[in-house]
Amino acid sequence: MTLPGSPFFAFKDQDLYLDDVRLRDLTQQYGTPLYVYSRKAMLAALAPYQQALAGRQHLVCFAVKSNSNIAVLQTFAQAGCGFDIVSGGELARVLAAGGDASKVVFSGVGKTRAEMRLALDAGVRCFNVESTAELEVLSQVASEMGKTARVSLRVNPDVDAGTHPYISTGLKGNKFGVAHEQAINTYQRAASLPGIEVTGIDCHIGSQITEIAPYLDALDRVLDLVEAIEGAGIPIHHLDLGGGLGITYTDETPPGADELIKQLLAKIDARGHGHRELVFEPGRSLVGNAGVLLTEVMFLKPGEKKNFCIVDAAMNDLMRPALYEAYMGIVNTRQREDAPEVWDVVGPVCESGDWLGRDRSLAVQPGDVLAVLSAGAYGMTMASNYNTRGRAAELMVDGNQVWLIRERESVDALFALEKLIKN
Ligand SMILES: *Cc1c(COP(=O)(O)O)cnc(C)c1O
Repeated sequence: MTLPGSPFFAFKDQDLYLDDVRLRDLTQQYGTPLYVYSRKAMLAALAPYQQALAGRQHLVCFAVKSNSNIAVLQTFAQAGCGFDIVSGGELARVLAAGGDASKVVFSGVGKTRAEMRLALDAGVRCFNVESTAELEVLSQVASEMGKTARVSLRVNPDVDAGTHPYISTGLKGNKFGVAHEQAINTYQRAASLPGIEVTGIDCHIGSQITEIAPYLDALDRVLDLVEAIEGAGIPIHHLDLGGGLGITYTDETPPGADELIKQLLAKIDARGHGHRELVFEPGRSLVGNAGVLLTEVMFLKPGEKKNFCIVDAAMNDLMRPALYEAYMGIVNTRQREDAPEVWDVVGPVCESGDWLGRDRSLAVQPGDVLAVLSAGAYGMTMASNYNTRGRAAELMVDGNQVWLIRERESVDALFALEKLIKN
């Protein structure tokens, strides 16, 4: 069986290993639910981006929202990455992790004035601006501080990324970006504002994209705009093509980052734009298959219509199945000889939507530890405290080394900020 995340995740004899660490052993020391990431797997996912872009002026900006643990950010900072952030909080994490503000791009449709100030103070490389209204406010905030904000406009190329509606962002009906037709006007407005310096253009058409064609379509549309904008006398320095490359959760076969970039570069060169600096903002493709969520089987509840395997991780720990009906692979970290049965793997939260996997063929017994695969992206970052459940602990492994990179959240911490009413 080839697992998503192989060769870093692999069975040796009966047991699932990540790098050289037997995963089941970790839960004895650190408990469950438990996120475990491989530093080697993250760096291996980054390598094809860096190799494909070697010899070009470029910056790979890790999308912080996909996995924002500061040790993960530190790993990418040390590998030379920049960061794509969507809040002042993410900026603070990047700085705490030793990241370089001059390699940060700031995305998002709703940046507050306070966040703009923080980012200008830190000296971020570029604001990816999504509306005229935001431009006006950013110019005002920067001018008040005696600064100029470097800006790229996020344009909406109106291409269908062929992905789930919740993670498709490049269509006309989405809240993201400036409509293609309005882009030139908006650039002209940007160029006229005192607090703004136009430096680039960007787009991000969606997430979990498994084909190259939508990227090439978007690139064509963006290059059309670049030519028109420069024709109007506004120079564009960099092209930011966003993130969104998909990973294998089950049977998807996304292109490698190297193949994607090769084809993008071919088009960029063919259209005479090879001199431009290139920025990418990958999230999922760098970390998704570098992590798992480990969870212990508590009870088996066979039924007339359904068999339920009740585990101690829930939708608050990993929201993707409940939110997108996403499929995530689930395996027993110790393979059993007995015949598998079909189970719905569900958590303890009081919602029918609280499931991690449906109709899964598994040989399980109470006390077994299951691994939910491909959980390195949009796992812990989307976790909540629903049902007053402390969030999971997180570990990083590399070879046979193991680091606790986030402690399990205590119950006291969950209501430490709350106050009783003084009657
Ligand atoms: C979420 C996001 C990304 C990262 O997307 P992935 O699918 O995780 O690669 C990049 N850029 C922007 C603007 C985003 O919102």
